[in-house]
Amino acid sequence: MNNNEKNTEELKSGETKSLNFLEAIIEEDIKNTKHGGRVHTRFPPEPNGYLHIGHAKSICLNFGLAEKYSGKCNLRFDDTNPTKEEKEYVNSIMEDVRWLGFDWEDRLYYASDYFDRLYEWAVKLIREGKAYVDDQPSELISEQRGVPTRPGIDSPFRNRSINENMELFLKMKNGEFADGSRVLRGKVDMASPNMHMRDPVLYRILHASHHRTGDKWCIYPMYDFTHGQSDYLEGITHSICTLEFEIHRPLYDWFLDNLIETEYRPRQYEFARLNLSYTVMSKRKLLELVNDGLVNGWDDPRMPTVSGLRRRGYTPDSIRNFADRIGIAKRENVIDVGLLEFSVREHLNKIAPRIFAVLNPLKVIITNYPDGQVENLDLEINPEDPEMGSRVVPFSKEIYIEQDDFMEDPPKKFFRLGPGREVRLKGAYIIKCKDFKKDKNGKITELYCTYDPDTKSGTGSQRKVKSTLHWVSADHALDAEVRLYDRLFKNEFPDEVEDENKDFKSNLNPDSLKIITGKVEPSVKEAKALDKFQFQRLGYFCVDPDSTSEKLVFNRTVPLRDSWAKKNK
Ligand code: ATP
Ligand code: MG
Repeated sequence: MNNNEKNTEELKSGETKSLNFLEAIIEEDIKNTKHGGRVHTRFPPEPNGYLHIGHAKSICLNFGLAEKYSGKCNLRFDDTNPTKEEKEYVNSIMEDVRWLGFDWEDRLYYASDYFDRLYEWAVKLIREGKAYVDDQPSELISEQRGVPTRPGIDSPFRNRSINENMELFLKMKNGEFADGSRVLRGKVDMASPNMHMRDPVLYRILHASHHRTGDKWCIYPMYDFTHGQSDYLEGITHSICTLEFEIHRPLYDWFLDNLIETEYRPRQYEFARLNLSYTVMSKRKLLELVNDGLVNGWDDPRMPTVSGLRRRGYTPDSIRNFADRIGIAKRENVIDVGLLEFSVREHLNKIAPRIFAVLNPLKVIITNYPDGQVENLDLEINPEDPEMGSRVVPFSKEIYIEQDDFMEDPPKKFFRLGPGREVRLKGAYIIKCKDFKKDKNGKITELYCTYDPDTKSGTGSQRKVKSTLHWVSADHALDAEVRLYDRLFKNEFPDEVEDENKDFKSNLNPDSLKIITGKVEPSVKEAKALDKFQFQRLGYFCVDPDSTSEKLVFNRTVPLRDSWAKKNK
């Protein structure tokens, strides 16, 4: 076992964990009645794509901490960039957070709600000589910032008078300047070893319509100038973000120190983002897969998006359990995607009704079974949960079993069906294979078996055989399209490419979707979109929203066992 595998095994066992570092901080703060013992977090997505499993981790963390410490968690759209954000994304994000089981109650906010306040704060900084309008193009500004080891070069506009700055900023706001021609910068520290402190840009000019403020503004605040102040306005106590923002924290604090008079301050904490093997997580890359038609939209069941996982058959419980299991860390790491699959298997095992489905049908004719007879067998829905009761499964003279449950010339260890061999049909009888038929290509097309009427399941029959097969009655089974999904990438780390002219897309798994027509037992006729089932001996499946009463469509969520773990050994 390598380290990663050892880790995965430990995480599966779900041993009780001690407090994570954020819980420890919060408990200490509560003990010291910091913020009067209040806990208030927020989840701040940028509405420029659909949420993915990494966001789900952040949602579980922020809403989870609020829940645990009787606090509150806000949903806040970080919509400072008018050009990339769309209403569709806002709606999908709300749907996904709710589906995961969290509630922001009446605390839905948009950073754009604060544009007026932010503008006033920018004016305050100008008045106090702490911000200036720079007329230089952005390339020159970056060039002058230089490198961390040497101080940067001051802009020639750094020492403009307060009056001139006030006038120019007003003109920026009034739309008198072209996009990119000027910016407002904080006068912080051009010699700081932290590049974010070298006179950061606070406002840029963008003549673009905003999904909420329309054409009211043609200057927009930058993320850094928005985030901490938004936290402040909402009374956030613990502002939790991912590690890449650690280096922004001094700036987060600089703005609050220079703008806020009250003693109350939100404080930023950083944790390691979730990375998953066999998965790309950045919204930019996910958008590329959608736009290039490499997947069927954001909710393609192969996508690591919350909507993709939902359509794949994941449950909110399984995602929350996964987030809980992996916990939070302060250092970057990669979690085995097998652990996510384990979590959904574990939950579906408890809740999914069992049914019979045959994906590669082989017809079996039971020669001594009466013509036209049908027995309605009562079969258990879920052995893990007897309260789920039973279902009726018809049995008749002609049935289907899986092609690979029969071998013409089976090796010793193969206990399923072969000439002269016996198996039990689950919930029905023991049958014996007497003969078979092949087509001209050598493919087995039909089996001829006899059944033993004294071996009916549930009647106390003593006879035991080594193998039990699932089956469906040929006359009663329904056809179903079955979409066999597999991992979207064949490479454990999709961003690693051998050839520098290639990118992550060259690591797509060509076999990530196989569509077949199978046979399912008739009890699923009325199943609704996203209903989940265990196809016995095969895996977990759910009804795709494309499914209709004329044409059933199922998605494979996961096979019963982790086939990738074996492959990699
Ligand atoms: P991406 O880099 O995937 O596009 P992002 O960080 O730009 O994501 P945001 O919408 O800004 O996406 O993120 C909203 C919140 O979700 C932020 O607090 C961010 O830190 C958190 N988040 C984003 N990706 C992850 C991840 N992989 N693991 C944990 N939290 C994440
Ligand atoms: Mg972002």
